[in-house]
Amino acid sequence: MPMSSLDVSSSGTVPSASALKLAAVRERLARACEACGRAVSSVHLLAVSKTFPADVVRDMYDAGQLAFGENYIQEGVEKIETFKNAGLAAGLAWHCIGPIQSNKTAIVAAHFDWVQSIDRLKIAQRLSAQRPAHLPDLQVCVQVNIDGGQTKSGVSVADATALAVAVNALPRLTLRGLMCIPDPVTSQAEQVAVFSRATALFKEWQAVGLPVDTLSMGMSADLEAAVQSGATMVRVGTALFGGR
Ligand SMILES: *Cc1c(COP(=O)(O)O)cnc(C)c1O
Repeated sequence: MPMSSLDVSSSGTVPSASALKLAAVRERLARACEACGRAVSSVHLLAVSKTFPADVVRDMYDAGQLAFGENYIQEGVEKIETFKNAGLAAGLAWHCIGPIQSNKTAIVAAHFDWVQSIDRLKIAQRLSAQRPAHLPDLQVCVQVNIDGGQTKSGVSVADATALAVAVNALPRLTLRGLMCIPDPVTSQAEQVAVFSRATALFKEWQAVGLPVDTLSMGMSADLEAAVQSGATMVRVGTALFGGR
């Protein structure tokens, strides 16, 4: 990528590796949006920082990224605390995107801003009861097993709408939408076919009056197909931070 297309700070320093990768992913998103006539502002980028240390996340923050996704609760909470202690919490959003055991709901409710991995009512009820009163509502998505994989997390498509309705009724939680992680398929056409099922379900939720605005799908390998299918949030790890 030519240097001239990148933001260089007024002091003339060379952009960091994190800034270069962030610019490249934003460029991919912009092209994907352009290809299907969507506004770039209609797709949010969640940087998935699992397994990467806080100083690497800090570089990405310095490059301008403000929303981060973590899979492992303890690891995520440590990074959240690191940023808070550095006085950098303002404007940041931390999303829990990994499986949550019942005995971890209190720590999730106390530290994260979002939970995208709600796959059963019990977890949502505990998060609702345990969200500290001084914090804003926890923003949540219901994770749906959209392609029906036997061993995967996520509520089945058949049970998804009932779970979304029940979650929406809980205090201290704001239902934002649907998250899915389909198994990898090779062609963009196949990717779109799977993502389109999630989009149809998301639209069904809107049609029954659920106030959802977030369709979280698409990762490093399939974000173009996700954008084409209507994703409003893509969760990108490898393309931003490198291989794990
Ligand atoms: C790891 C992970 C991602 C990011 O995947 P990449 O392929 O590294 O972009 C996105 N969503 C979830 C739920 C993940 O666990």
